[in-house]
Amino acid sequence: MNLDQLLFTLQNFDIAFNYVLETYPVIIYGVYFAFAASIGSFLGCCFYRLPRKMSLLNPKRSFCPNCKTELVFWDLVPIFSYIFLRAKCRHCGIKIAPTYFIIEVLTIVIMFMLII
Ligand SMILES: [Zn+2]
Repeated sequence: MNLDQLLFTLQNFDIAFNYVLETYPVIIYGVYFAFAASIGSFLGCCFYRLPRKMSLLNPKRSFCPNCKTELVFWDLVPIFSYIFLRAKCRHCGIKIAPTYFIIEVLTIVIMFMLII
């Protein structure tokens, strides 16, 4: 791919992006919301693990700090899992600190403030 083709592709991507943004803004904002929530979830993970000198890669999945059970996919959806599980671990029932929820919401709010 030469430079002209690259510029043409980028120009068309920009046109397509703007078309979707103007026609179906909920799609773009929904994807951005999911992206922001994922960043917030990762920051929550860092907030828990780094002060405890734990690796960010091992264990790969988040776990309950009480029963050490690794969380399954539907327990890891940012914001929604916290609400649906009513801030409790599915396995042992211990209350989950609101820190994760607050970090995720704040990240989403800050990231939307950056684009709106
Ligand atoms: Zn637990």
